[in-house]
Amino acid sequence: MTIAALKRCATTAMRCARTLAALSYLVAQGFSPAVAQQNPNPLAPYVKINAPVVALTHVRVIDGTGAAPRENQTLVVRDGKIASVGDAGSVSPPADATVIDLTGKSVIPGLVMMHEHLYYSTGPGVYGQLGASFSRLYLAGGVTTMRTAGNTNGIMDINLSRRIAAGEMPGPAIDATAPYVNGPSTFLQMHALRTADEARKHVAYWADQGSTSLKAYMQISRDALKAAIDEGHSRGMKITGHLCSVTYAEAADLGIDDLEHGFVAATDFVADKQVDACPGQARGQQAIAAIDESGAPFRALVAKLVDKRVALTSTLTVFETFTPGRPTPPGLDVLTPSLQESFKRAQDRVANGTQSVYRTLFPKAMALERAFVKAGGLLIAGTDPTGSGGVVPGYSDQRQIELLVEAGFTPVEAIAIGTSNGAKYLGRDARIGTIAAGKQADLVVVAGNPATSIGDIRRVETVFKNGVGFDPAKLIDSVRGQVGVW
Ligand SMILES: [Zn+2]
Repeated sequence: MTIAALKRCATTAMRCARTLAALSYLVAQGFSPAVAQQNPNPLAPYVKINAPVVALTHVRVIDGTGAAPRENQTLVVRDGKIASVGDAGSVSPPADATVIDLTGKSVIPGLVMMHEHLYYSTGPGVYGQLGASFSRLYLAGGVTTMRTAGNTNGIMDINLSRRIAAGEMPGPAIDATAPYVNGPSTFLQMHALRTADEARKHVAYWADQGSTSLKAYMQISRDALKAAIDEGHSRGMKITGHLCSVTYAEAADLGIDDLEHGFVAATDFVADKQVDACPGQARGQQAIAAIDESGAPFRALVAKLVDKRVALTSTLTVFETFTPGRPTPPGLDVLTPSLQESFKRAQDRVANGTQSVYRTLFPKAMALERAFVKAGGLLIAGTDPTGSGGVVPGYSDQRQIELLVEAGFTPVEAIAIGTSNGAKYLGRDARIGTIAAGKQADLVVVAGNPATSIGDIRRVETVFKNGVGFDPAKLIDSVRGQVGVW
């Protein structure tokens, strides 16, 4: 309760009544207005380093550009920004700095991950809204900026984005998508946009509510997609798609900005594909599993995407959980026991899938993403914590970088895909995504050297966001065993 609120109380009778009711509630709870005004920092329980000037010394810098690591660097953070970074011999810690010796450790830019969600499959056809726990897990995993790639909850992504930006809740900066732009489907938590006019109104409404991004989905028609693209662009929003009814080539011609799931969702190569109809995800996947990445049809599609500057989001993490013979994904212990159980059952089903298309599709998906980058395409990264469980925010973001290395990228290239490429896509690369003087101090300190051993990316010790150092262990402990409830 603030003095300003009491002053505003004079303006309307209704607001006055509400203000007084809230005030009497606080007094009844034992809060005096003076105590309530102190507003203790809600982030404090998760913060381990918070000083106006911090110097990280003797640290290996992997700067997010894809350049080789630089050893024995000094990195000075002042007022939330990188004030200077350079060789220990040329940059010395300021006298007023809190000095942290990081000998043997590395610093990478905060991850900029582009296919994240704040919901999770909690039951048949039901997506539970887990934004409060997920945002802590993302930050703990090193994610300092993320895009939600689709929203099944309405206003929550937007509110979380705002509250995190206001410093009221811990989490990454969030590019918050509107509820899915989709046609009629069986999804209980999606709108059914039948016409271009409905699509335009949907985009306009959610843009007015505060959405900053759009995601089209599998049953959208070309007309509705075109209307959503145009309305979104007129409001400065980018639009991505997990498509099926519309092919990648059609979407590129309509002006889409990004396509999700690498080439795994492309229906361009389904022989009898009817316009505006999804032939089924499985048909598209069979065609993609069989495609030759050096053949003319695939190269023509890649050339079109590169020419139209359509980005591609790699989400290998979710496909790994569908692929027989893959390791158990990390982070399952933070889930509720019932979600852990349900993933184990899904994992058993996957292990027994001797005919699974993913045996060939998963390595093919990796090869196609490499081919796209080789041809000059902008590959960005995300994790898609949906499917049948097992993609756990934060942990999955680290796993996604590891899988890019398995796909054939060098560790520093994979880190660049998960940092500066995401920043470029968002148009924020002047501020985030790389380590350089003047950039926002979004930094992940990891033990070891992920440039030679990418698994070290899991050994996160501190996550700096705007220069404030968060403790991943505290963030994770605050949600452990409860992810699935809130
Ligand atoms: Zn998704």
